[in-house]
Amino acid sequence: MTVLSPHDGTPVGTLPCAGAEEVRDAIATARAAARDWAGTSPEERGRLVRAAADALAEHAEEVAALNTRETGKLAHEALGGVLAGVGTLHQYAELGPVHRGHALRGGTLAADYTVAEPRGVVAAITPWNDPVAVAAGLLGAALVTGNTVVHKPSERCPHTGARLGEILTAALPDGVLVTVTGGPETGRLLADQADLDVLAHVGSTETGRAIARAALDTGAHVIRENGGNDPLVVDDDVDPAWAAEQAAIGAFTNAGQICTSVERIYVHRAVAEPFLHALAAEARQRNREAALAPLVDRRMRDAVHGHVRAALQDGATALEGGEVPEGAGSFYPATVLRDCTDAMQVMTEETFGPVAPVRVVDSFAEGLHLASRDRYGLAATVLTSRIAHAQRAIAELPAGTVKVNNVFGGAPGGAAQPRRDSGAGFGYGPELLDEMTQVKVVHVEMPPSN
Ligand code: NAD
Repeated sequence: MTVLSPHDGTPVGTLPCAGAEEVRDAIATARAAARDWAGTSPEERGRLVRAAADALAEHAEEVAALNTRETGKLAHEALGGVLAGVGTLHQYAELGPVHRGHALRGGTLAADYTVAEPRGVVAAITPWNDPVAVAAGLLGAALVTGNTVVHKPSERCPHTGARLGEILTAALPDGVLVTVTGGPETGRLLADQADLDVLAHVGSTETGRAIARAALDTGAHVIRENGGNDPLVVDDDVDPAWAAEQAAIGAFTNAGQICTSVERIYVHRAVAEPFLHALAAEARQRNREAALAPLVDRRMRDAVHGHVRAALQDGATALEGGEVPEGAGSFYPATVLRDCTDAMQVMTEETFGPVAPVRVVDSFAEGLHLASRDRYGLAATVLTSRIAHAQRAIAELPAGTVKVNNVFGGAPGGAAQPRRDSGAGFGYGPELLDEMTQVKVVHVEMPPSN
């Protein structure tokens, strides 16, 4: 597995792909450590996860630099991702020991209560687009609740994943966290193993589906945080320049390689022209300043450009971008497409690049209707000044998260349940502690007195 720099195509490094034997060994190691780790007090587990977080904080710059070299992520965003991972580990270190159950009193001398037990061995299969923050969440929640973990980072950033594993494992008991490097084949081998209790996958919908199918045979509990095709609906009563800024942040941050990027835009006709003009200016400025990171690799760029080229052939117009630049690396310009229809792949599929496809609608209701007609259900945003329109959007949009007036709004520690093709289960927040455990109900009462 050789990773090439998305900046200039030069080799970053080569790592082995784990085969069947290594995968089995990794699971056996984690299984052997599971009993002692489950028997360690929650407070002690929290202390060790906190120590692992502190170790990651000490190496934050080094891990961020590796991430930038492998995936092209902008340096300050890569560092932000590592620090977010440190914050998440700290949060789970605190939340683990206070993860609590319920009690019921069935009679004056009887009690029912619940105890959350670790599920056992968790396989965490993670993506490359925010590799440290995403992995830290799954690992932190699994470990602090008493599970042991086999982590397989993405083949697009295996050095980042391997280094993360080295840093965290140095602070943890042996065997509690094992990292295996490799590509989809290693992931498949992992998902097919019978001796796993949880398959936690963050990544594409296609992979999530394959993992869910494998789990039907093994009985593993599945957590899937998958792709999205998030709509942005722009009402007629908002400032079009501000709406364009929101659209640009949503579509172009991390070169559009975020699961909750704005993927398709429905703008009210009353503000469409100034909105499109301002959005094209936002994109032009980013392109002029070469402000965007490259896409992760040329394979991704080919996929993104394929969607754009097909839209242009089918009648869309590029107001900015839309062409593959000359030169090394896998850069792609911020691109604004107008006159898009809902038959185009840029509107129906997740386009994992800096592309903002726009369709003009005659009413907010039409925008909501089109926004709702989709197989994904990750998140959606509406920009409106009317409370009634906001309420209607909240009620009607079939997504795990609905945001009003901020494309990347959300409280720290927030979690949502993705719907339909975007996944299943909570992959973040305190609710992830519930996913990583199974509840035992205990009923206790007095023996009859003699
Ligand atoms: P991907 O599914 O291709 O890869 C993710 C991981 O799955 C990698 O480690 C990969 O090796 C592994 N994998 C691939 N095929 C496999 C198989 N058949 N069996 C088992 N494992 C397999 O996804 P990606 O390209 O790395 O990530 C981008 C995708 O992730 C986008 O769709 C994005 O929206 C999504 N994503 C979602 C969230 C979320 O929270 N919903 C967060 C980040 C990324």
